[in-house]
Order: sequence, then C-alpha cells, then structure tokens
Amino acid sequence: MSTLIENIPVEKVKSSRIHEVDFDNLSFGNVFTDHMLVAEYKNGNWENPKIVPYQPLSLNPSAKIFHYGQSIFEGMKAYKDAEGSVWLFRPEENRKRFNISASRMAMPELPEHIFMNGLEALIKLEKDWIPSDLGSSLYIRPFMFASGEGFHASPADSYTFIIALAPSGAYFSGKVRVLIEEKYSRAANGGVGYAKAGGNYAGQFYPTQLAIEKGYHQVIWTDDNTHEYLEEAGAMNVFVRIGDTLLTGPTSDRILDGITRKSILEIANDFDIPTEVRKISVTEVVNAAKEGTLKEMFGAGTAAVVSPIAAFGYQGVDYSLPEVDDSYATLLKKQITDIQYNTGEDKYGWRHKVV
Ligand SMILES: *Cc1c(COP(=O)(O)O)cnc(C)c1O
Repeated sequence: MSTLIENIPVEKVKSSRIHEVDFDNLSFGNVFTDHMLVAEYKNGNWENPKIVPYQPLSLNPSAKIFHYGQSIFEGMKAYKDAEGSVWLFRPEENRKRFNISASRMAMPELPEHIFMNGLEALIKLEKDWIPSDLGSSLYIRPFMFASGEGFHASPADSYTFIIALAPSGAYFSGKVRVLIEEKYSRAANGGVGYAKAGGNYAGQFYPTQLAIEKGYHQVIWTDDNTHEYLEEAGAMNVFVRIGDTLLTGPTSDRILDGITRKSILEIANDFDIPTEVRKISVTEVVNAAKEGTLKEMFGAGTAAVVSPIAAFGYQGVDYSLPEVDDSYATLLKKQITDIQYNTGEDKYGWRHKVV
C-alpha cells in the first residue's frame, strides 16, 4: 500500500536505517536517507515522480550516461531550526539553474512542480534525518542523467531525475592553501563551465591531485586563455579583499553563477562594504600581497558557505594572508547562516519554509 505526499506516491522502506546513523559524527555526503525521489523522462514526456526506498539503480551498459556523460546536478541544503521547522535557502535559484544546465547538455528541462513538489515531499518524509545542531544540515543532491541507450554519439531519448539526501555535519575545512593554476583550465569560452555538468568536476580531479602533491588543498582556476585572471576556487566562486574592497569576477561561460556568490554581494552592499565585480588579475593580487593590502581571500559555495584561504602559491612562491580582526568572510558567513538556520532576520525573503 502506498501513501501520498504532495500527490506523490510513496513506497516506504520496511524498516528505517536511521538508528544505525551516528548523528554526532557525521561527515559530508557519506550517509544517505531511507528514500529518494525518482522521475523518468520517456517518449518526450516526464512521467509522474515517485518516492521509493534508496536503492541501487539498474541500467544497461549502453546507457548514454556511461559513454557521453550527459549528467547534471545541483547542490543545496535543508536546515532545521530550534523549533524543529525546516528551511531551504533560495531553492528557486537551484531549480532554474538545473534547467540552464539541462539545456546546455541537450537534456530535457524538468517541470517546476517535479523539482519543487518532489523536493518538499521528500524532505517532509525524511524530516527526522535532518541534524539540528548549528552547522549541520541535510545535503540535497538533485541530479539527472541519460538512461537512454545507444553507442551513437547523440543525446539520449530517455533520462532519469533523482533527488537523494545526505545528512551532513558542519563543514569545517579549516583555512586552505591554494595553488594558482598556470597550465590546466576548468572552463573555456563557449564551453560548459557555467553548467553543473558531471564531467566538469572529473576534469578538475587530476590538476587538483597535482596541487595536493605539492602541498596545497585546492586549485584557483585562472582564465584558459592567458591564466592571468582569477576565476574560481575549486568548485566554489572566489572572493578577494584588497584594502576594504571586496572583489569577485563576473559570471560568464567560465564562471558559474553561484547562489552563495550573489547572496554575498547583496549582503556586502547592505553592509556598505565596497564591492567590485570585475576581472581580477593574478598580478594585482600578488602586488597587493607584497604591499600588505591583500587582506582576505575566500571561496564561496553551498557546502562551506565561505571557505577562508590561508595562503596561495604562484610561480614557486607562497604568499600568506594575514589574520584580520574585521573579517568580511566571518561577517558574511554569519549573515547567511542566520538566514538559513532561522536565527536572524531575513529581509530578502530567501528563507523558504518546508514544514
Ligand atoms: C556549485 C558551484 C559553485 C557554487 O554555487 P552555489 O550556488 O553557491 O553553491 C561555484 N562554482 C562551481 C564551479 C560550482 O559548481
């Protein structure tokens, strides 16, 4: 017998795995909830979504995801406040970006109600899995891949959309050491860097491994043409503070339109922090480091909100960032997490109540 949530049929697990989980020692994205949402696209139409037990998938070896990598995803979180209410942060932005990614990869767009109602139904069902201590959250992974078959290099005729959930602990990366990349590129003009397409990330692994071997944690991507301008920090947008001005590069084919990035820019403006959205050259950052005007660098993304950078390497020299008392990174992170966890005012209307 199946029940309905938001008109979506639910096939429940026979017994929950929730009691096997050590909620005090959660890492990031390694434990998955009991259920997932699945919707199939076939014959030009999206079939009705359903919620089923989290389980392995069955695909033919000729499914195009394995050969041509038609695959996209989103990353978002649900937060539980002290009263037990559950919140999302700007979910409509993720929904829209998912379809921007889908179009770029010649995949069908997902109807709004499947994404939003599916998400809300699944989160309501899995509410007990959301950790409630500050910093912890339920990581949400919506994704779509080509399930249609054939060795012909062309878009598949069928696709699977899934939302899976992973209760996750606070993301304490600590301060990271980054290497400014001079050879490899994450993205190029006319390419797919603005889409959250699976292959983008596989392409980053090797250069990142090389940076790790040299003693860094992460790569700062530069433009593919000249390697003279900062673009992103790993899979995060990057911010630089020179003097009292907060800088970040403009979104483009190569720089992904991060929701954290644009939220930071809006909050910074409201705090009268001078911001500039423009190209940032490596030379400018190196000179600022030498002159002592480089005060902060940080990555920005859903997983960590902000990820402060302790030092960067460039052409064999390491440059350290100072400890500042009036850290923008700390202020901006607090403002965003106060909205996300319902511990502060949300004058922007970014917080979205699920239950
Ligand atoms: C997801 C992502 C970001 C950050 O986006 P958010 O919406 O802030 O999570 C930045 N850069 C890349 C390459 C990404 O994939």
